Amino acid sequence: MTTENATQESWEEAISRVSDGEQTAPPAMQEGEVISSASDEFPTKVKSLRHKGYVPYWDTRTGGYNECPQYMRWQIGEIKRPDGSTMYTFVDPKIPPDYGLDLYCPLNSKSPDYDKVKNMGFAECSRKHVPNQNALDLHVQKSHKRAASALAQLKTDAIREEDRDLQRQMLQSNQQLIQSMASQIAPQVVEEEDKDKAPF
Ligand SMILES: [Zn+2]
Repeated sequence: MTTENATQESWEEAISRVSDGEQTAPPAMQEGEVISSASDEFPTKVKSLRHKGYVPYWDTRTGGYNECPQYMRWQIGEIKRPDGSTMYTFVDPKIPPDYGLDLYCPLNSKSPDYDKVKNMGFAECSRKHVPNQNALDLHVQKSHKRAASALAQLKTDAIREEDRDLQRQMLQSNQQLIQSMASQIAPQVVEEEDKDKAPF
């Protein structure tokens, strides 16, 4: 008990030193909020209590969830849309979220791209409901650096293969064109030669 008190005193002192006399929270809020041992340089606050004083609010149209400090509540509650309707509610409107394109991470087994990467030894990723391609690209670049470069390589290969196919097709259709032109032009050439000859 004595030891505990001694520890508590020391982190309380530490807080006042760190916050430089600034009163960030009343002492009552700190009770049981901070988990720290004598070896900790700074006290660690319990996560759930860090959110104390925060209230959840939702977008009345999209159902988008957010949290704000209690003292901001009245301001947020006053925000209106240009049409005069209330923008946020403090009661969950239970609107199913709009996931936009609702994309999966390529390393999610439900992604259409998963087949391409599943044998490359990357850990599966549970990320889903990504609203757009840009956000998905960012996620892959940030969370799966090695997979990102492998995917980029696959993409480059696919584009090169596509280009090759296109060239093949063009070559083929050119040949067909040349052949059909040759068969059509042949008599015309004769005619033109005749025309050329005509003035003489
Ligand atoms: Zn992912």
